[in-house]
Amino acid sequence: MTLTIHEVASQHCPTGRDVYLRRVEGLRPPPSPRMVRGLVLHSVVERAVVEAKRALYSGRASSGAELSGVMAELEDREVSQALSPAGNLPPESLTELESAARSLWRFEALQMASSLDRTLADRPRLGLDALVNTAIPFVVERVIDGTFLGLSDAVRVDALAHSRVVLDLKTGRRREFQTLYTAGYALALEAELEGPVDVGVVVYLDFAGGRPVVSREIHVVDEALRREFVEERNRKMRIVAEELDPGLADRCPGDCPFYPECRGGRA
Ligand code: SF4
Repeated sequence: MTLTIHEVASQHCPTGRDVYLRRVEGLRPPPSPRMVRGLVLHSVVERAVVEAKRALYSGRASSGAELSGVMAELEDREVSQALSPAGNLPPESLTELESAARSLWRFEALQMASSLDRTLADRPRLGLDALVNTAIPFVVERVIDGTFLGLSDAVRVDALAHSRVVLDLKTGRRREFQTLYTAGYALALEAELEGPVDVGVVVYLDFAGGRPVVSREIHVVDEALRREFVEERNRKMRIVAEELDPGLADRCPGDCPFYPECRGGRA
């Protein structure tokens, strides 16, 4: 049995009963609207980065203006594919989410197009591969083997910058525990790269007036954070291995997918 980084790092259920219900009782409730929203927005960012790189490597775009044009052509197809997990949302939520997804797509396209033009202006002699990696210095959805940490063999990091900086995109509200995710990714990546990964970035994505607002929390993945992650992993592995129900949380988020199971109804 292996846990995911999300199961270890998430503190949405403070006692870890969500892990117990999923892993021991085998419950698989559908994701909450908040989770669906996160999935969709992550997918938009991933698709935007992949499609921008594809346009540059294929020669379809070689300037910021051309890249903007290609991305505008792809918007309908990519956003509608990103929205595929959201089919069960109520119509008004789906409309709002589609609008946010489109706004995010355009924002990402503009950021990458202007970064491309800046790179071309600053360093006109770069070859194609160096140009792409300078203008869009991220690898998205990198998969790492986390088995040595007792985690899944397919740990997906939202993005890596400069090979050794782990980025985690958060689309909900800011929570103290979110640096535990980057700690977990850093530990898994260190084992694979056989070298230190000491810097994490939690990227917060919000919307104001329908437009994306991005802020970043850059932090050192220090010993205390690493220890906290490992202790939390051990605690949750014990819950599963010994089939220990850790009990109800004092306060449960109303949108917890397990709320009906734990509290016998919807909040
Ligand atoms: S309803 Fe409460 S106790 Fe149950 S899994 Fe969710 S947060 Fe935990």
